Amino acid sequence: MAILDIRVLGDPVLREQTQPVPSVTDEIRQLVDDLFETMHAAGGIGLAAPQVGRRERVAVVEVDEQPLIFINPEIISRESSARDEEGCLSIPEIYGEVDRPATIVVRALDREGHPFELNAAGLLARCIQHEVDHLDGKLFIDYLSLLKRRSAARKWEDEVEKYPNFIRKIEPGQATPRKSRSRKPTPEHEPEL
Ligand code: ZN
Repeated sequence: MAILDIRVLGDPVLREQTQPVPSVTDEIRQLVDDLFETMHAAGGIGLAAPQVGRRERVAVVEVDEQPLIFINPEIISRESSARDEEGCLSIPEIYGEVDRPATIVVRALDREGHPFELNAAGLLARCIQHEVDHLDGKLFIDYLSLLKRRSAARKWEDEVEKYPNFIRKIEPGQATPRKSRSRKPTPEHEPEL
């Protein structure tokens, strides 16, 4: 396992469409393990392949200490709507309220390449949708109003200076350990995805 560099907003890889995985090989399982390790080190609750510069359609999520792997995920049903704050490991220090379907059904392959379907609601549903968006080159800031998007872009102009070549180095043990990954890392913000 390895902690990978996280790509931040400005790296074109975050805007590219990913490629479906033709078969779940050891190389893909290695990517899954590295995504988990990187996500844990960064203190996030979700991470998608493009965020570490990869183009496979693979993402991981961990809400309420339940690790989930999504290979070739597709959201096959969406219901009602909910609004909550989101952040992103690829856009540190930027947060915004996003409307999304409140409950979803997602279909994907697991670590062994077996298909499964999962019904999700609440934070888990939000997290899965955020990660599937990453696999389609989409970011949560795309959902913000024009005004909020402009203010996020202004703030990001300062933040991005911290990340030469759009690379965010993650050190082991950097994240504040938390008992439950569904808890907020700081009083004012949701964990990043
Ligand atoms: Zn994200």
